[in-house]
Amino acid sequence: MAADTVFTKIIAGEIPAKILVETENVIAFPDLNPQAKVHILVIPKTTEYDNVTQLAAADPALLAEIVGVAQKLASEHANGDYRLIFNSGASAGQTVFHVHAHVLAGDLEERSLVG
Ligand code: 5GP
Repeated sequence: MAADTVFTKIIAGEIPAKILVETENVIAFPDLNPQAKVHILVIPKTTEYDNVTQLAAADPALLAEIVGVAQKLASEHANGDYRLIFNSGASAGQTVFHVHAHVLAGDLEERSLVG
C-alpha cells in the first residue's frame, strides 16, 4: 500500500488540478511542470500501487485502462501519437510513489525522456 502522496490530495480535491478525464478507476490532469507541449499524468484512484511493476502484476486491467486513457488524451490534445513513461524507483526519477503514467505528446522531436 502506497503512503499518502500529493496525488492522494489531488484525488480528494484537497489540491487543485484540472481534471481532464475521470472514470470510476482513474483520473488524468496536466503535470505541474510540463516537459512537452502535452504532458498529462494518468493515475489510478487506488493508493495500493507504488509503481507500474506492482500494478501490472496485481491488476493488468487497470493498467490497460490507463493506457487506453493515455491514447484518448493523445488523440484529443495532439495527433494521437504519444510517449508513455512510468518512472519506477527513485534513481529512475520517480518522486511520487503512487503509480502514474506520464503521457507526452505534441512537440516531441527534440525531447528526451522525463527525468
Ligand atoms: P515522477 O517524478 O514521480 O515520475 O512524476 C511526478 C510528477 O508529478 C512530476 O512530473 C511533477 O511535476 C508532478 N507533480 C508533483 N506535484 C504536483 C502537483 O501538485 N500537481 C500536478 N499537477 N503535478 C504535480
